[in-house]
Amino acid sequence: MTLHSPQRPSWLCAACGRSYPCLAALATLAAGDLLTAQVYLAGLFVSAVDDLPAVPVADLYARFLLAVPVRWSERRA
Ligand SMILES: [Zn+2]
Repeated sequence: MTLHSPQRPSWLCAACGRSYPCLAALATLAAGDLLTAQVYLAGLFVSAVDDLPAVPVADLYARFLLAVPVRWSERRA
């Protein structure tokens, strides 16, 4: 079984071939700690900006950083 994980430098999912993060990866990330997911995706965003210079940064921002919603009620003090 192949995990839904990013392949570099294409940034396609290793399991389903869709753009990473795919829906399955997002579901897995969203099921865990949201802050951890957002930090993970922020790190991927930085790498994706380097790997995909032809893709507008705004598109990558939306793809990686707006993918997992912030739930303010779950923020830790
Ligand atoms: Zn996938």
